[in-house]
Amino acid sequence: FAPWEDPAAKPLIQFKNVTKRYGDFTAIDNQSFDIYEQEFFALLGPSGCGKTTMMRMLAGFETPTEGTILLGGEDIAPIPPNKRAVNMMFQSYALFPHLSIWENIAFGLRRDKKPNDEIQARVEEMLKLTRLTQFAKRKPHQISGGQRQRVALARSLAKAPKLLLLDEPLGALDAKLRQDTQFELMDIQEKTGTTFVIVTHDQEEAMTVASRVAVMDHGQIIQAAPPAQIYEAPNSVYVADFIGDVTIIEGAVTAKDNGYDIAFAEGQSVYAESTLNLTNGQTGYIAIRPEKVAISSEKPERVRNAVQGKIIDIAYLGNLSTYYVELPNGQTVKSQTANTRRLSRRSFTWEDEVWLSWTDTAGILLER
Ligand code: ATP
Repeated sequence: FAPWEDPAAKPLIQFKNVTKRYGDFTAIDNQSFDIYEQEFFALLGPSGCGKTTMMRMLAGFETPTEGTILLGGEDIAPIPPNKRAVNMMFQSYALFPHLSIWENIAFGLRRDKKPNDEIQARVEEMLKLTRLTQFAKRKPHQISGGQRQRVALARSLAKAPKLLLLDEPLGALDAKLRQDTQFELMDIQEKTGTTFVIVTHDQEEAMTVASRVAVMDHGQIIQAAPPAQIYEAPNSVYVADFIGDVTIIEGAVTAKDNGYDIAFAEGQSVYAESTLNLTNGQTGYIAIRPEKVAISSEKPERVRNAVQGKIIDIAYLGNLSTYYVELPNGQTVKSQTANTRRLSRRSFTWEDEVWLSWTDTAGILLER
């Protein structure tokens, strides 16, 4: 049982009808959701959708205009930021340049006037956790960017917060280092058991690290679910379109077998299995991932969904090629294939007339 599916699980964080307004602008719109202990929860969405506002309310830099945020069952509104069991790691890391790595990590503990032996033990533990023991005496400018990122992480975990907020934590790292660091972040999260909430612009990063991804739009969480569910079972055209690549085919639905026919052009329809309860004639949207669409020069047999069209664009990505195929009604459908062999004369080219096909379960039927 994942905690969010377990009615007996106690949430660490609870948003109850939380709204945040700046003047008459609504940045967070009546949001209620839970985050559980030991979760790695990612907030994902376009610029301005309210991700940072969510984090700032959790950290205590902003207060909700309406509604309540509970931490461990307790309203956090009256608790000032430095008294909350919450810490925030900023993208800039904000390390003290004149202090050693050791002293940077010890900073919060010293400020809290913890006994020296406790500080000593905790800093050593954090150095070990983040594999920084050998750099303890160096200053921030004497270590690499990836190591500085780990110092910032060690420092923000030193006081053992229940919740760590990470605002674009890997934004300053280059692509290769970023990937390694993502695995490290997951490892450290698992070892400490701390709940992590991460804001990132990078959907691959969110999908890699998170136990659940919350896709936001205009101050609302549209769907919060594990990465595979977000990708395979989006709850809306918005989420299907935001995560990964997709073709949307729109048309009037007619119930048939275990799903619906969708008439998308004069005399043409495609079929999708679905458990949705739609009314015949209502508009439905089928989301189809390009990698689920097969491309062939001959009409495939025994497939219900087969449409003919012409290749109008090809994106060659080395390991993959994406073909943009225009149907007679002007609809473009994407088909992506793995280039497992060297491209030969058998591969397709511009203007080729081709058939696209997909299975009854490949298309995800959505109401909007
Ligand atoms: P980005 O990805 O660009 O950081 P975001 O999703 O984190 O965006 P927020 O920073 O949460 O978005 O901002 C949400 C909305 O609230 C934006 O439209 C922003 O302009 C507005 N906003 C944020 N802070 C304030 C403020 N102090 N006063 C007025 N409007 C604000």
